[in-house]
Amino acid sequence: MDTPMHNEHLTCIDCGAAFLFSADYRARFASDDLALPKRCGRCRQARHDRVETASARYVDAFSDVDARRALFRERQKKVKKGQP
Ligand SMILES: [Zn+2]
Repeated sequence: MDTPMHNEHLTCIDCGAAFLFSADYRARFASDDLALPKRCGRCRQARHDRVETASARYVDAFSDVDARRALFRERQKKVKKGQP
């Protein structure tokens, strides 16, 4: 509570660009008890997309796009069935 909120610039670990970590954002991160962002918005989004597509770590073993898609579809089916 004593810590004054201020805007800050962080360096993206992916592209090395400086990005603004605003006081507003900072407050949200603090309240959610999250680690500080390591990537700029663009790299974070790119990473997010990648994680969404590669639903599991073992998918990385497949370089074949079709295999990935099949796996992704399979997962979607499971989600629809309501499995954990
Ligand atoms: Zn970046």
